[in-house]
Amino acid sequence: MISFSRIILPTAVFACLVPTGLTGCKATGNDSNGAATQPLPISAAASAPPQTADEAPPPEKTGGFDGKRAFAHVAKQVSFGPRPSGSQAIVQLQDYLQTELKAYGCSTETDSFGADTPVGRLAMKNILVKIPGENPGVILLATHYDTLLKDNFVGADDGGSSTALMLELARLLCGQHGKYAIWIAFFDGEEAMKQWSANDSRYGSRQMAARFAAGGDIKKIRAFLLADIVGGRKARFLRESSSTPALIDLVWNTAAKLGYSAIFLNNSTSAEDDHDSFLKRGVPAMDVIADFMNNGYWHTPQDSLDKISPRTLAMVGHVFLESVNQLQSK
Ligand SMILES: [Zn+2]
Repeated sequence: MISFSRIILPTAVFACLVPTGLTGCKATGNDSNGAATQPLPISAAASAPPQTADEAPPPEKTGGFDGKRAFAHVAKQVSFGPRPSGSQAIVQLQDYLQTELKAYGCSTETDSFGADTPVGRLAMKNILVKIPGENPGVILLATHYDTLLKDNFVGADDGGSSTALMLELARLLCGQHGKYAIWIAFFDGEEAMKQWSANDSRYGSRQMAARFAAGGDIKKIRAFLLADIVGGRKARFLRESSSTPALIDLVWNTAAKLGYSAIFLNNSTSAEDDHDSFLKRGVPAMDVIADFMNNGYWHTPQDSLDKISPRTLAMVGHVFLESVNQLQSK
């Protein structure tokens, strides 16, 4: 996700100007200057005093979501090196995703397509998990799995974390059978190849949304929940202002109920991301995205595995699982 200079910065500054946002913005800014070894604030780690700050809680405490497994998926992705669209490394990752999903018993569809980009025509591939439900209607979860086209950029958090999160969710959800179908999308080509714009970004999600619109599936989607940049050791999540308010409320209320208000803050921010491809087509959609502007490593080679916390992954995974349960009961 991006849009640093024109979109994100002004709104992030605005978020810092509103009275309720003052402490949050300040705290987030301070966080980003901390050393990598600095522990989480006590408030964020209070529920698990015997553990180190980044250790994942036992899966039974996070709805079955295994933060250690999710972390291992991030490590695996990073081991492939930079994974921009059209690269050899992203093909390795596609194979890994499909092998893992098959092992979980997920049924998947792929859409291989060519995208015209400022650096030429690139081969891209969307991967879609489909878990059937009893009634018409689909809950769509999504991530992008490509990484920014930049030397030495391995995207542990940006690309890696949310892909790991969706893999672990697929492991838990593929055997289930709920009221509504759950689909899990792994998008290629979210990142801009040169500079973020409507035409140079979100290639994969635009492709999937267009196909759903053409085939009629777009009307079946009751809710679209996107994860992006969700694994940081110091991650703080802000309400993304272009998202559908009812969905933001549902996810934030869920996070509060689960005791995660220390990382799901009530400040607002704005981010252009894959949810826009669905919002533009009338689908209720939202984005869970960390306050990446202040993490200190966004879109730099420092977005590496040492920035990732199994505990953050577990908390966000728990929020997604419980939010899906909420949506299944509506
Ligand atoms: Zn990015």
